[in-house]
Parts: sequence; structure tokens; C-alpha cells
Amino acid sequence: MSEIKRDAFIDGRWVARDARFAVTDPFDDSEIAQVADADDAMVDAAVEAAARAFPAWKRRPAAERGRLLGQVAARMLADERRLADLCTRENGKPLKEAIAEVRYAASFLTWFGGEAERVYGETIPASNAAQRLTVIREAVGPVAVITPWNFPYAMLTRKLGAALAAGCTVVAKPAEATPLGTLALAELCEAVGIPAGVFNVVPSSHGGRIGGRLLAAKAIRKISFTGSTEVGQLIMRNAAADLKRVSLELGGNAPFLVLADADLDAAVAGALVAKFRNSGQTCVAANRFILEAPIAEAFTAKLSAAVAKLVVGRGSDPATDIGPVIDDAAVAKIKRLVEDGVSRGARVVFGAAPAGTSRLIAPVVLAGITPEMALWREEIFGPVIALRTAMDEADAIAQANDTEAGLVAYVYTRDGARQHRVAEALEAGMVGVNEGLVSTAQAPFGGIKHSGLGREGSRHGIDDYTNLKYIATRIG
Ligand code: NAD
Repeated sequence: MSEIKRDAFIDGRWVARDARFAVTDPFDDSEIAQVADADDAMVDAAVEAAARAFPAWKRRPAAERGRLLGQVAARMLADERRLADLCTRENGKPLKEAIAEVRYAASFLTWFGGEAERVYGETIPASNAAQRLTVIREAVGPVAVITPWNFPYAMLTRKLGAALAAGCTVVAKPAEATPLGTLALAELCEAVGIPAGVFNVVPSSHGGRIGGRLLAAKAIRKISFTGSTEVGQLIMRNAAADLKRVSLELGGNAPFLVLADADLDAAVAGALVAKFRNSGQTCVAANRFILEAPIAEAFTAKLSAAVAKLVVGRGSDPATDIGPVIDDAAVAKIKRLVEDGVSRGARVVFGAAPAGTSRLIAPVVLAGITPEMALWREEIFGPVIALRTAMDEADAIAQANDTEAGLVAYVYTRDGARQHRVAEALEAGMVGVNEGLVSTAQAPFGGIKHSGLGREGSRHGIDDYTNLKYIATRIG
């Protein structure tokens, strides 16, 4: 299993198409593979296959579905170096991060493989002595899964694991830039004997059009999307036509609070993790650093010293901490944000504003950020640190909540009461307290406000793939 899969995967078969699109390495634009560019007919065939496979997959004992998911996870781990290399090539991320992603992605299959057997119903004491009231949880049906390019494996398995565990079938449309990881996972699903039609993949260079067709298909009963807030809003509007269930994991604009009593070394270590994973291109990236005035200067100095040690380079080089950003549009966006900040008075306190067109962007630290700046309002999605000072705890919280996003927030403080007080005041679906990495399969991942709907991971992650069915039985 060393060859890169390049065709669509529909109803258990690899389906070629003359029309193909190039998947390239973001580092140097070298071509990795020419991938089948799915058309409408292939999308329709994939949806039909998922619909046909659904009744038998749903009826299959949960333990068997769970066991198959566990087997895919085991194969992923056994094959982690190949999968990680592929990820580094198509996404650009450093190899050590790609390995971590493969493990993280596999952990969702393991977790949901276990959860399959715990999709419990309930019995309810009836007020009528002649009745018995039971509630069962049933798979919602075929699911459309649409994923972004920044975590090609993990964003898929968070959905695929929950869907397959619940008894749903899936048609996935990976991001244009990174379809190869999804196809590699389809190959592993095929290898362990997941039946034809249960997991289908339609790669496309026309994400909006082909994604739109997939989401509009009548047989699709649920949509699970990870990507930008704008596309998420469009999907939710369109889903109304058929009243499809929708889960949306959307953009973030995470605040990272460092309060006056924080352990500054721990805060710097957390900041590096929260900011620079995937070259800053994560939905949970620390976007706005909010520093309580007494420690602002000391934290900035320590952080700049740590940032100075980061190595920027090709992802496949083991020394690399920060790989290339995904494409030219990402470079242009980062430059626009920094130029806007500097033109409005932000100060470069470490590094230099990015110049040129290279996708390798060296980290830069900017202080004196103000709310009018685009750096404050928009997801940076790059290795840029934006610092703002707060007068006190209340000011820090007000600044943190000054955003439409609500995915994650981070706070560093040693005071136990303050930890709870601030965590509860922050408007976010997740809070890291003295912790820069909150993501784990056992916990509910997801946002509030414009960051989305629903949760992935944890025992809650399966809920969105099941319908409650209440059964009233007359016994006498
Ligand atoms: P994007 O919204 O441009 O694309 C995401 C996916 O949607 C791609 O597969 C794309 O082809 C598809 N798509 C685009 N238009 C579509 C349409 N009209 N109908 C159906 N599908 C369509 O986002 P991106 O640039 O690939 O990813 C980056 C964004 O994803 C960031 O905002 C990031 O914060 C967010 N993200 C969120 C999470 C989370 O869990 N909350 C995780 C990772 C990334």
C-alpha cells in the first residue's frame, strides 16, 4: 500500500475520470498527483451508494461497526509514517506535526469505535399504568462530510468515526488542496472490510459547486462541515430547504489572556503551541494576545526570545517548526493584515513584516494592536502574533469577548478562583486554563456564536448523528 490513491472512491470501487486536477506541494508547487475531478454524476452515484448501504450498515451490531473503526485506527498507526509524509507533502506542515495529526486522527476512530456500543436509549416512567415509554437512538441516515485543508485526516475522522459508529454512511468531499489523505483513509477502510458504499469520497477542484450538489442531494439527511464561517452560513441557509441536520465547525478568533499573576514561562510555552501549530493555520490558533499591563513587557520579551528559536523551512526537514502556508492567497492575506496593523500604528517588536511572495513566512510579533485593526477582527491564519494590553481582569475579559467568533479562549493565571471566574466569563465553546492545546478525542470540541453548531469528539460527538425515537407501547 505505497501507491498514492488518485481516483474517487464510490460504492467500494476506485473510479477514474479523464478530467483531473493537480495536487501540489505548497513548499515549491511541485506536483504530487493528478486526482480525478468528480462531476455531478459521480456525486450522485456516491450519494446513491451511501443510501443503498445505509439500511444494512445501520442494522449491523454496534460492536461490529466499532471493531471495524478500531481496525482502521490500528492501520493508520501502523502506517503513520507514510500517511504523515503524504500530509506534509500536500499540506506543507512539519513532519512532526503530521505524525501528531495521524495519531490524533486515529484517536477519534478508536474513541468512536468504543462509543458505538454506548449509544444508549432510555425508559421513562409512564403516568399511564397501561403504557411503557422507551426512547431509542437511531442513525440519521447518509451524511455529507465536507472538510478543510488544514487537518486533512483529523477533520475527517472526527466526523467519520462518529457517523460510522452511529450507523450512518458517509460521502466525503475533501478540500481541493488536500484530497490525498482522505483517499488514503478510504483505502484503509476498504482494506479492513468496511462494506461498499459505507464510506465514499468525491474529490473535486470545484469545492463550492460539487460540495453544493452533494449537500443538496435528497438522500443526504445530515451535513457535517468544517471550514470558514462564510461557507458555513451559506450551507445552513441551503440546508433549510430539506431541513437537513447541520453540524458546523467554523472559524475562530481566539483570545489568549495572560493575567498579572501568570506563570510567564508556562504562558510562553502554551502560546507557542496555541499559535504556531500548522504555521498558525488552525481554527484554534491564538489570534489575539491580551496581556494584563503589569506583565506585558516581561511576557513580550520572553515570548520574542522563544519565537526567535523557531525554525522556518520545508515540512519534510526534521528541524522545521514552521512550514509554508497553504497558498499564495494565504500569503497575501497575512501581508494585508500586517500592513493594515502597521499603517494604523502597530509596532513590530520581533521579526519583520512579511515581504515578497514566499510561502515561508518568518514569525513576527506586533504590539499595540487596537480594535479597528484587521488583525483584531479577522482570523490571521499565519505565524503572526498580535499583542494588546489590558488594564485589569475585567478589561481583559471585555477585550476577549469583543469578537463574533467563539471557538476557544486561553487564559493563564495561577489564582484558582480567577481561573474559574475568567473561564466562565469567556464567550467560547472551549477554554484552555494554563493550557495551550485543548483538542482531544475525549472532549467536546466546538464553538458558539459565529464559530459554529454542534460538538465533535467525546460522548456528545455522536449525538448529532442520531435521532431520538420515542416508542409508546400499550401493555394492557
Ligand atoms: P473553506 O470554507 O473555504 O472550505 C472548506 C471546505 O468547504 C472545502 O472542502 C471547500 O471545498 C468546501 N466548500 C467551499 N465552498 C463551498 C460551498 N459553497 N458549498 C459546499 N462546500 C464548499 O475553508 P478552508 O479555507 O478550507 O478552511 C479554513 C477555515 O476552516 C478557517 O476559517 C478555519 O478556522 C476553519 N476551521 C475550523 C475548524 C473547527 O473545528 N472549528 C477546524 C479547522 C478549520
